[in-house]
Amino acid sequence: MAMLNDKMETEIVRIAVQKSGRLQEGSIQLLKESSLRFSNGKDQLKTKAVNFPVELLFLRDDDIPQYVEDGVADAGIVGENVFIEKQKNNKLVNRLNFGICRLSLAVPRSVEYTNIQWFNGKNIATSYPFIVRQFLEQNNIQAGIHEISGSVEIAPGIGLADAICDIVSTGSTLLSNGLKEVEVVLRSEAVLIAGPDLSAAKQSILDKLLFRIEAVQKAKNNKYILLNCPNEAIEPITRIIPGMKSPTILPLAKKGWSSLHSVVDENDFWEKIDQMKALGAEGILVIPIEKMIL
Ligand code: ATP
Ligand code: ZN
Repeated sequence: MAMLNDKMETEIVRIAVQKSGRLQEGSIQLLKESSLRFSNGKDQLKTKAVNFPVELLFLRDDDIPQYVEDGVADAGIVGENVFIEKQKNNKLVNRLNFGICRLSLAVPRSVEYTNIQWFNGKNIATSYPFIVRQFLEQNNIQAGIHEISGSVEIAPGIGLADAICDIVSTGSTLLSNGLKEVEVVLRSEAVLIAGPDLSAAKQSILDKLLFRIEAVQKAKNNKYILLNCPNEAIEPITRIIPGMKSPTILPLAKKGWSSLHSVVDENDFWEKIDQMKALGAEGILVIPIEKMIL
């Protein structure tokens, strides 16, 4: 902890993560990739990082926004869907790019669904009454909302509701319950949330953690690339993959050729590879990056 100043060493940031469920693994993995090390497993209620002033509290995801508002936890990792639904005094610090799913309206497969007006006068079962009410209001639909806490997808089958609004990722749960997705209400991913007024010392620790998380996220979106090219192709290839500042160029033993090293964005990666091949690039190697700090 030599890097942190004295004041910070006496402070600790408590981060609430899901005890078990779909966000648990991704949350721990992200913190580990940010170089936090934890000494024990998730069977306990809390665990301290051995090399960073962070303590994890393991809780049900639904309870996390309240604990963060109350200051029992300073920060938390929840689905954006839960963050929005709970309407607690939390701020969204960063999107985390895992736990990607959507909250959708689904109706029995036998329904001939044409548009959202179908929901007028219907009953919708959901665990997300706030989000659904907001969506219905925005679309001028008058429908009943029946709040249930689990197994929402069975509601139409047992006559509890005409439709549901629930989390969908692949749609296989809907399918096996005879339902079909008809409207996407919200797209969601895991988010880092924090309490409204952290002390300066806690905020400073959280900022350090956020800096690491961003380095990990940038690294995931980029690849290190090495290639050989004729010298005259260096300039046009540099325009395609300028890298963080500019590429590294090393002469090859073979006359008139160079090795070029740079960083390439994952999103338009294949397109760029095609362009570079057309310029004479060969022997292209692509390597994952662990951390990336601009
Ligand atoms: P808990 O016991 O903590 O209350 P839970 O049953 O409410 O857990 P999970 O099913 O583990 O919750 O889902 C937690 C969060 O993970 C959801 O709020 C959502 O943001 C996200 N999520 C849910 N289902 C999926 C999915 N199929 N794919 C990706 N992310 C999902
Ligand atoms: Zn839950």
